[in-house]
Amino acid sequence: MIATSSLEISAKAYRQNIKYIRSEIGPDPVISAVVKGNAYGHGIAQMVEIAEKAGIRHFSTFSSDEALEVFQHSKKKSDIMILGMLYLEELEELIQKGISFYVFDFDRLKAAISISKTTQIRAKVHIEVETGFHRTGFEWKDRENLATILLENSEAISLEGLCTHYAGAESVSNFVRVKNQIASYHEFKDYFLEQGLTFKKFHTACSAATLIFPETIMDMVRIGIAGYGFWPTKETYFAKLHDLPKNNKNPLRRLITWKSTVMSLKEVKMGEFVGYGNSFMALENMKMAIVPVGYGHGFSRLLSNQGQVLIQGQFCQVVGTVTMNAIAVNISKVKNVKIGDEVILIGKQRGKEITVASFSESTQQVNYELLTRLPKDIPRKIIP
Ligand SMILES: *Cc1c(COP(=O)(O)O)cnc(C)c1O
Repeated sequence: MIATSSLEISAKAYRQNIKYIRSEIGPDPVISAVVKGNAYGHGIAQMVEIAEKAGIRHFSTFSSDEALEVFQHSKKKSDIMILGMLYLEELEELIQKGISFYVFDFDRLKAAISISKTTQIRAKVHIEVETGFHRTGFEWKDRENLATILLENSEAISLEGLCTHYAGAESVSNFVRVKNQIASYHEFKDYFLEQGLTFKKFHTACSAATLIFPETIMDMVRIGIAGYGFWPTKETYFAKLHDLPKNNKNPLRRLITWKSTVMSLKEVKMGEFVGYGNSFMALENMKMAIVPVGYGHGFSRLLSNQGQVLIQGQFCQVVGTVTMNAIAVNISKVKNVKIGDEVILIGKQRGKEITVASFSESTQQVNYELLTRLPKDIPRKIIP
C-alpha cells in the first residue's frame, strides 16, 4: 500500500534544536521531550527513536495511552511522565511500568497511595500546583492537607517532582502575569520544604518559558514545540533575537516535510468553474494539477483558493475548494509537469520553501494545531 502523501522527519534538525536548547539551559537540567498529540504530529514512534539517539532520556505525554506508546518504543528505558489524563483503573499498570504521572487532586493521590501499598511498588508522582493557569493543580488552600498526606505516605510514593505550567509565557505582554506565577510557585516550594518534604526535581518551564524566562528553568525543562523547530510565537523569536548568533540565523530547524505527488492533469477553459460551488472561475485558459491531499488528510479547507504547494520548484496556488481527498493547483506557468511529479505541501524544493507558519497564517491555525491535525496514518519516515 502506498499512501497519498508522506511525511519526512529530520533527525539532524532535531539534534540541532536540542543543541540550541542545551546551549540555553546549560549542562545540568534534564530535557523532557514533550510528545503529546502524536509528538505534535511527527509520530511518537519516530520521535522516541530520534530523541533517544539525540541523547534524550525523558518524555512527557498528555495521557496514559501516549505514555504506553512511548514505553513500547523506548529502547533506552527512558523516563516517561504523564502530564494529564489517566483513568484510575490504569494506575496499577502505569505504576508497575515505572511511568510517572502528575497528581493534581486528592482522588488520584489516594488511589496511587493505595496501589503502591498493595503492590509494594512506589508510585512516581509529580505534584502539580496551581499558579495561575487555572486548569489543573492543587490550590494554595490545599497545601496543609496535601503536605500531611505526602509526609504520612513517604514510603508509598516517590516524589519525583514539584511542577506547574505557566499561562502566557509565550507572550512578553504577560510579563507581570508570568512573574506572579513564578512567585506563587516559589511560595508552594518554600512551604513544602519547610514541612520537610523533598522532591527530586523542580520543573516548570515549557519552550516559551525556557527561552524568555530563564529563571523558570530549574532541574528540568519540558520542551515541546521548540524541539520540533518552531518558536512558540513570533514574539518569543523577536524577544530572543538580540542574543542569537551574530548573523541572526534562526537556530531552530523544522523537522517535518510533507510531500505528495501529482495524481492527474487537467486543462480548464476561460469562464469555467473549478471544484464544488463557484468560488473559483478561470479567468483565462489554464492548466491544473490534481493532488491527492484534502481536508481529510489535514490540509485545511480554509486553504481553498489560498494555499500553495511547490511543483518543479515553483509555487502553485490552490484553486477552488479543498475537498476531502484532493486539491487542484494552478500549474499554468510551470513547464513539463507530469503525473507522479513530487508535490511539496510543507518543506523545500529547489531552494524555495513552504513553511508551516505561512501555512498556518493563512488558515488562522497556530503551528501546534496544524501539526497535530496531521493524521496518524500518513506514513512518517525518519531522515538521518
Ligand atoms: C504542552 C506542554 C508543555 C510543552 O509546551 P511547548 O510550548 O510545546 O514547549 C510543557 N508542559 C506542559 C504541562 C504542557 O502541557
